[in-house]
Amino acid sequence: MTGPTAPPTAASAALFERARAVTPGGVNSPVRAFNAVGGTPRFIRSAAGAWLTDVDGNEYVDLICSWGPMLLGHAHPEVQAAVAAAVARGTSYGTPTEPEVELAEEIVARAPVEKVRFVSSGTEATMSAIRLARGFTGRDVVVKFAGCYHGHVDSLLASAGSGLATFALPGTPGVPESSTALTMVLPYNDRAAVEKAFAEHGDRIACLITEAAPGNMGVVPPEAGFNRFLAETCAQHGALFISDEVMTGFRASKQGQWGLDGAVEGWTPDLVTFGKVMGGGFPAAAFGGRADVMSRLAPDGPVYQAGTLSGNPIATTAGLTTLRLATDDVYAHIGAAADTIKTAAADELSKAGVAHVVQATGTMFSIFFMDTAVRDFDDASRTDSRAYAAFFHAMLDHGVYLPPSAYEAWFLSAAHDDRAVQTVLDALPVAARAAA
Ligand code: PLP
Repeated sequence: MTGPTAPPTAASAALFERARAVTPGGVNSPVRAFNAVGGTPRFIRSAAGAWLTDVDGNEYVDLICSWGPMLLGHAHPEVQAAVAAAVARGTSYGTPTEPEVELAEEIVARAPVEKVRFVSSGTEATMSAIRLARGFTGRDVVVKFAGCYHGHVDSLLASAGSGLATFALPGTPGVPESSTALTMVLPYNDRAAVEKAFAEHGDRIACLITEAAPGNMGVVPPEAGFNRFLAETCAQHGALFISDEVMTGFRASKQGQWGLDGAVEGWTPDLVTFGKVMGGGFPAAAFGGRADVMSRLAPDGPVYQAGTLSGNPIATTAGLTTLRLATDDVYAHIGAAADTIKTAAADELSKAGVAHVVQATGTMFSIFFMDTAVRDFDDASRTDSRAYAAFFHAMLDHGVYLPPSAYEAWFLSAAHDDRAVQTVLDALPVAARAAA
């Protein structure tokens, strides 16, 4: 806690103590903990629009938005009503349903995919896409970029190699070396590294997977033409290009990151993974792509993939209602609110003499506490985490809940109205001084 305005946290602290007794670290996903910034995570009791209310009764403007999904804001009345009606019809049947078809049609209409298969998490989506790419090509090697997160898939939890193109070591205990021995990790935005990897190993590479625009090392936009270069390189070598749009899909723009580059430049990925926004706040994700590739999946083809709750009617109803409400106006509103906050944050940090770089792709952005642009994971790792922690806590004390890590994107929603944005603007001067 800093300053006289520090809100009460006794109820969160008591729950955190109980949580830690029964759950590792007291949280069900490590990013929710405050280990990187210090202190006690706030336990949220309810949320509405742009606002979170914690168990002590404090209100916060939410700049996490459930790590991306809540594009329309919390408890959107139309989404709530559609979900309530769906729940009244039963919660899971284990049979095909109409909302699944409608959501698939909506995704195919907006994104560069001909067919999609639903799963329940982004992790499942990337894991399944990689299996499909290996099954389709008959090859084993997967290429990824350092700093790109694709969920906790064993083969993708690989640390960055220090060389130009390194077969990776596991990034966590519990993943055997054999699981990452076929994963190559390259520096992001580095065409020469990609060319070298494909020149040396091209006939073994099943696929290259990349975040369509990385948001998991903070926002690091692809340099102009980088995604097209990746798509073309994969095509030249008979490998599949997997664009992971779990975070950016229907978030960076109406058509995701692809709407900002592929749609303009005229190329399409072979496979795309989706999650977050397309589930409308429920566990739903998907992978999709070229019809000839997707037809290799069971039951049409031999590559097995399945899920008890895949395409769950409540989740697909929430996702469908969200996407139907996510009009051009929604993205324009979020983009404008993001611009206001980015500009004000940069001004206040400059006034306070704090080194900073604001990076964005579409409506997603983050601030690095350093003075040079970030183009890869090595750069990102030089951000001043101590300054971020001070900034984070001052914002929290003044009613703004930022991601509790210097390496995350900040998210806004259609519900971030003038009052919510003004609350952020009012908190910024104090937070900037705290970071100095
Ligand atoms: N891919 C990307 C780009 C992500 O940002 C995430 C999660 O943040 C995932 C995959 C994994 O999704 P999930 O947490 O739903 O398993």
